[in-house]
Amino acid sequence: MLILVDMDGVLADHESKLIQRYRERFPDAPYPRLEDRTTWELTDGYPADKHDAVWEIFSGEGFFADLDPMPGAIEAFRDMAADGHDLVICSAPLVRSRWCESEKRHWIEQHLGTGTARDLVLTHDKTLVQGDVLIDDKPAIVGRRIPTWRHVLVDQGYNRDVELPRIARDWSNWRDVLGRI
Ligand SMILES: [Mg+2]
Repeated sequence: MLILVDMDGVLADHESKLIQRYRERFPDAPYPRLEDRTTWELTDGYPADKHDAVWEIFSGEGFFADLDPMPGAIEAFRDMAADGHDLVICSAPLVRSRWCESEKRHWIEQHLGTGTARDLVLTHDKTLVQGDVLIDDKPAIVGRRIPTWRHVLVDQGYNRDVELPRIARDWSNWRDVLGRI
């Protein structure tokens, strides 16, 4: 299958890094734990007077370059390729960050190699990209076209109310899920 693979919340753990950076900057302020992040809105769970700071951290230099891979994600990506799937990374860039796009490409080169980085698709409209499957943590993906792909989720607190095939956050069941597609 041609599988489109999202980055943030799928291959790269942006939520954990955001909480970590936030706590380094505001060690005494309230913060959301990962399990408290139950909506798609990035700043939910952080105090209202810190929302601008959250965006500042998220769009700052080095944020996307420094993300840790999601547990099991790199191994799963390599195993999917070894199983014969054609993999293309498809990610929506953060337009308010001048570093996001180049850092995403760099991250892929570092973790998955230059061949994977070469085919990177950066777009906010993933319905324009053809594929059999899109693995993405976003609860609902709409755009200009009817998608050619089937949406498969990676489990996150903010997508639990969506009824779609679901890969565990540590990717442990990806083969079972894709086997049923
Ligand atoms: Mg994502």
